[in-house]
Order: sequence, then structure tokens, then C-alpha cells
Amino acid sequence: MTQSATILPSDFIRDIIDDDLRTNKHKACVATRFPPEPNGYIHIGHAKSVCLNFGIAGQYQGTCNLRLDDTDPLGESMEYVESIIRDVRWLGFDWGERLFYASDYFEKLYSFAVELIKTGNAYVCSLNADDVREQRGTFTEPGRESPYRNRSVAENLDMFSRMRAGEFADGAHTLRAKIDMASPNIVLRDPVIYRIKREPHYRTETKWVIYPMYDFAHCLSDALEGITYSICTLEFENNRPLYDWIVERLITGSRPQQIEFARLNLSYTVLSKRRLIELVKKNYVQGWDDPRMPTVTGMRRRGYTPEAIRNFCAQIGVAKNDNLIDVSLLEHCVREDLNNRAPRVMSVLRPLRLVIDNYPENQVEEFEFANHPQNPDMGTRQVSFSKVLYIEQDDFQENPPKKYHRLGPGREVRLRNAYVIKFAGTVKDEKTGEVIELHCTYDPQTRNAPPADGHKVQGVIHWVSAEHCVPAVVRLYDRLFSIDNPGSEEDFTKYLNPHSLETLTTCYAELSLKNAKPGSQYQFERLGYFCTDLDTTAKQLVFNRIVALRDSWGKVNKESTT
Ligand code: ATP
Ligand code: MG
Repeated sequence: MTQSATILPSDFIRDIIDDDLRTNKHKACVATRFPPEPNGYIHIGHAKSVCLNFGIAGQYQGTCNLRLDDTDPLGESMEYVESIIRDVRWLGFDWGERLFYASDYFEKLYSFAVELIKTGNAYVCSLNADDVREQRGTFTEPGRESPYRNRSVAENLDMFSRMRAGEFADGAHTLRAKIDMASPNIVLRDPVIYRIKREPHYRTETKWVIYPMYDFAHCLSDALEGITYSICTLEFENNRPLYDWIVERLITGSRPQQIEFARLNLSYTVLSKRRLIELVKKNYVQGWDDPRMPTVTGMRRRGYTPEAIRNFCAQIGVAKNDNLIDVSLLEHCVREDLNNRAPRVMSVLRPLRLVIDNYPENQVEEFEFANHPQNPDMGTRQVSFSKVLYIEQDDFQENPPKKYHRLGPGREVRLRNAYVIKFAGTVKDEKTGEVIELHCTYDPQTRNAPPADGHKVQGVIHWVSAEHCVPAVVRLYDRLFSIDNPGSEEDFTKYLNPHSLETLTTCYAELSLKNAKPGSQYQFERLGYFCTDLDTTAKQLVFNRIVALRDSWGKVNKESTT
């Protein structure tokens, strides 16, 4: 269980649990569950729920179940189940033997429904869906009772068993809880608890043609598993009286308690599964694991770490009111974590060839670089230096502004951990006038030493040796949406950021990255944090930019150059 922080988190849910423990309400038992429906991949919002449920179980020496809430056959699949299992595990949580499927309870749920019929608490209604909706009433008007509401128990039992037997068409009948058509809470106006749906289920296949509704299945699944705290998001607040109504009628002894918290909304991001599915199905992104996706699998591929995601979830906390969290907080957590763990390397993304005129042909020097400026345990590596190098195009300007501490006519700069070089000239493309090669001279005295006259060289730039580097493709990611709350827009795809992916195909990484394994994170000095992508092969390195450095593009990153 992941519980590294010494200060235990505190929030209104943990306050409720503390109170219950004092009064021994659940016999000192704390049992939670994370109940995703396997109809999509889980995202950062689910991660918040995962951290909350597993976090509470860990903190109180309780248990947390992973339950696939698979009671609606449409859109559910084993692919999604497998992805959820992989993603929750990757986030760092362990449910031991406690993996459950709501579909395993279908028979029990059916018996519960029969019991409700027998006690006069449910009836088979033969109105179609439109009529049920129409008779439900509104916020200001009570609903009307179904003409089938007073069927006898015997008739209801007979009808319900025939529904199960497949005698009726989809939608011909439903089983409804008999509660109160005049209730101010519309949820309680005889909600449908079973419907006929001739749809094969990915686990039970064609065994069932009736399926329980979420409100009926969820609370009873919780009860069957001995859950004490059924933590869910705020949109279920109005359903809580129904949750309680059902368990009070069917469960004796300790009953689960539903507690609602505010779902995570993240700026520049959509977190509704329906919308994420649309992004995937309509190819706005390249699959669920596209590094621009807020899915756990997308974030993993991008190079985010589970520690960073857990830390983000801890920082946003748990509240009772909906709000919009700034995505830069997530990026901050990612950066903070990678700053500690990512080895530093040099790579050039937009190369400009640089020739050091007075450096001997064929000479190669090895320079020792620390892999991490603050962590000597991460060791050192040798980086080769030679006459022809690559530097970033924007580390040279023909007409630089005054405060520009990089290369330009008449200027000097230090090559990171190597020599001070001075501008000597340029070679230009005859047609375009574009600078295609830079010439400099170096001062051999300045290897790890200031110039002889002691003057300060302001700028430090990174480099790779042309003969000692590997070509790489680098994908630069930006936010997927260009407005801060795309989730509030019906037509959300209109706000996709056309520049969310830029692919650079002529980059050079230092030689030490030659055999970098997919999923390895690095800090490319001065450029940001990068991760070797899954598309990397023995022939072609591919990197994703995970997140830029705090400093803006091109500025010297203090920490890595001093
Ligand atoms: P969506 O609303 O995106 O379709 P969902 O709520 O239908 O998602 P489920 O698979 O039913 O997805 O969710 C599993 C659990 O994750 C639920 O307990 C749900 O409350 C929680 N959850 C889903 N989205 C968020 C979110 N954005 N923030 C916090 N918890 C969430
Ligand atoms: Mg749901």
C-alpha cells in the first residue's frame, strides 16, 4: 500500500470515518471499493477516486476492493477490464484477492428483486420508456402512478420470471421499485430497477436478457461485499435516498453508507468517458494511450510517473464542491517528481551544425558529466567532444538583442561542461540566406576553467558531437484543447488545439541514449523532461516530451548548468 507521507491526509470523509470508529458503527471495519464500469479506460479523475478509496483503506488498515461494475452489457469488454487492472496496479495499489465483478452477482440480484416483489415493494410495469418518462412528472409537478402499479404479487412474480425467460421484446416491460410517485425527489418516483435488453454480455454472454439498473445493482453489490463506505461523486447525491431505500429493505445487519465527493475537473481537459471514447473512435487522437490523453495509459506513455499522479491527487484533496483544477498543478507535480529522479542528458532538437575551426581534426575528448546535479549516487557518464557539433538553432542569432547570452556575431558562450567558444562565421544557404552552419574557435585553456583574463562568460549552451550522437524523433505535446473548460462545451471537439502535437524528425540525442528502453525518463538539459516512447525500435529512437522545464524554452536552466 502506498502511504509514504508522514502527515496523514484529512478531509470530510476521513472525519466521518473517525467518528464512526469512535462510536464503533461498523465494528471498527473500514471497507471501500473502486467500482469502474469497464466501458472505457480510466483517467486522471478515476485516479483521484482510486487514491481516495485505496488511500483510506491503507490508512485505516481496512480493505479496498476492485470491482468491475459491469451490469450494462453495452460497450463493456475484457479489453477495458484488462486495462483497468493494469492501470490501477501501475498507480501503485494492490487489492490482493479482492477482485470482483458485479456480473457475478446477477443471480443474487435477481433473487433480491424477487424479494422486493414478494414484499410488495416492486412491480412489473408495462409502460414503454417514453410513457414512464412522461408520467414521471417534473421538479414542480408530481408524477402519475402507473396503471400497472397494483398488479398482484403473483402476477408480478410470473411476469418477472417470464421477462427473464426471454418471452418479451426489449422495452416491453420493466421492473420498478414501488416507492412514491409524489416524492419531491424524482429519483424516488418508482425508478426502474430491471429492464429487458437482448444484448450479449462480455462475461455472461447470452445467459441474461434482463439486466439490473445501476441504482439497484450498485448498492447491493456494495452490501454483498461488506463495503462500509461507498464513496462516489456528487452527481449521485439525489440517488442516495434510493440507495438507502433498497438496502434497508433487503439487507439486515451492517449496511454500506454512500458518501459523495466532488469529481475532478481539470482545465484544458475533458474527463467524461463518453467524450474520451469519441476522441478515440473519431481519431482525434491516436488511441487511448495517446500521450495527450488524460487516461492513465496515456499519461504512462507520456512519461508521467505513478508517484507524480498520486502526489497530485493528494494535493488536490477531497471536497464537497465541484471546481476546476488547473492542469498546471498536475504538470508541476510531474516536474517535481522527475526533477528528483530523471537523469540529465544532452539532446539537440532543432540542430545547427557547428564547426570549431581550431580544434584538431579527428581529436575526440571524453568529458565526464554528472547524471544528476544534486544526487551523486546517480553516477557519471562520459560524453565525447569533437570538432563538429550540433547545437540548437535558437542558441544562435544573427542580430541578437542586447541581453542575449548565447551565440551571435562577435559573441562567446560556454559549451556545457566543455570549452568557451567564440563566433567566427557562418555558412548560408545560397538560395534562402538561412544559416546552415556556424564556425567558432575554442580556447583550450577554458576546459573547466574561466578564460585566462578571468572575465565571466555569461551563457552556457548544450551540444552533442556530430559523430557521437544518435538521430531521434521527438514529439512535443501541448494541451489537447485550446480553451480552459472544454468539458462545459457540447461541441467540445471544436476546441481541439491544432498544435497539440509537433513532431521533430531531425533531432540528435547524445550517444548514451542509444539503447534507451521505452518508458525511460530523462531531463534533456535546458529543454524539459522526455520519455522514450513505445514506438522506439532498435533502428529509431522516439521520445515524448513529458513536460517542459519551469524556465521557458531556450533559457538556461539554472539548476542544470551551475
Ligand atoms: P464518466 O462520468 O467519465 O463517464 P463514470 O463515473 O461513469 O465516468 P465509472 O467507471 O462509473 O465512470 O467510475 C468509477 C468510479 O470513478 C466512480 O466511483 C466514479 O465516481 C469515479 N470517478 C469517475 N470520474 C471521476 C472524476 N472525474 N473524479 C473523481 N472520481 C471520478
Ligand atoms: Mg458511472
